[in-house]
Amino acid sequence: MSKKRILITGGAGFLGSHLCERFLKEGYYVLAMDNLITGNIKNIEHLMHRSDFEYYHSDVSNYVHVSGDLDYILHFASPASPIDYLQMPIQTLKVGSLGTHNCLGLARAKNARILVASTSEVYGDPIVHPQPETYWGNVNPIGPRGVYDEAKRFQEAITMAYHTYHKLETRIIRIFNTYGPRMRLDDGRALPAFLGQALRGQDITVFGDGSQTRSFCYVDDLVEGIYRLLLSDYPHPVNIGNPDEISIKDFAEEIIKLTGTDQKIVYKPLPKDDPMQRKPDILRAKEILGWEPTVSRAEGLKVTYEYFKKQVEQEEKDYPIK
Ligand code: UDP
Repeated sequence: MSKKRILITGGAGFLGSHLCERFLKEGYYVLAMDNLITGNIKNIEHLMHRSDFEYYHSDVSNYVHVSGDLDYILHFASPASPIDYLQMPIQTLKVGSLGTHNCLGLARAKNARILVASTSEVYGDPIVHPQPETYWGNVNPIGPRGVYDEAKRFQEAITMAYHTYHKLETRIIRIFNTYGPRMRLDDGRALPAFLGQALRGQDITVFGDGSQTRSFCYVDDLVEGIYRLLLSDYPHPVNIGNPDEISIKDFAEEIIKLTGTDQKIVYKPLPKDDPMQRKPDILRAKEILGWEPTVSRAEGLKVTYEYFKKQVEQEEKDYPIK
């Protein structure tokens, strides 16, 4: 029997590269697409020699062409950290809107099932806590995060429209903060920022008073949730994230303890529209997918720490401080 073929946009990114590995392991033929504006070819270098893997250097926001059949599409291309989407607001808006439209068109043409990567950012600065999928969110459309949040909200809307109007097989995942190896050290997010700072002997920068909360999910748990959702028959949005909530200040202290450094915490201004609280309600994922996270923050952080330690050591070799 011939292999199922899956296209993964953003395939050279943090999540995309883990998805490529997972679907290869499951026996799929994987086509990874990326334009490398935030992705890194190094993330998939080890897959390039395989006969069941193909890389397309392409921008999904332009017309996408893929030759041959496709059974599945995972649309994961997008800048995803606040710093990235502030620096690339137009690309962020385009990949969530035009990029999604192109992927949906491709899915229709190939008669493929598509899963789009949405985000907890559709809830904005939420006033309902924890956030169930039925909550409509509290988003500032013209604020700095609006370029990401609204692109993803549009993505959900157009995906549902293709589902109801064209009867396309669609899936929508709302991803909460996720971490693990292959995150970029410099992507500006709290976890790589804190680990990078601790490893380089710098102060830990906590924004605001650090009372804002987040809930961090280890990448393997997320990938399992994506896998199950894709193969399910559920077309409505599903939250995937770890409900273990922690304040950013406590998180910074946890990182200091983990790295065994004695860095100081320094407080910086809170970015505009930074959500005060975030924690997924995962009842739907439990009921529909039988999914819940299995990796604790302590376990996940240990693996991630080792990854970043190697990255910082490499950086020090490549750019020695004279
Ligand atoms: N944050 C921080 N110091 C940093 C980077 C981020 O205190 O160096 C805070 C940020 O203001 C937010 C939280 O950590 O409240 C998580 O931010 P992140 O950029 O990881 O992603 P977000 O969850 O806001 O999308």
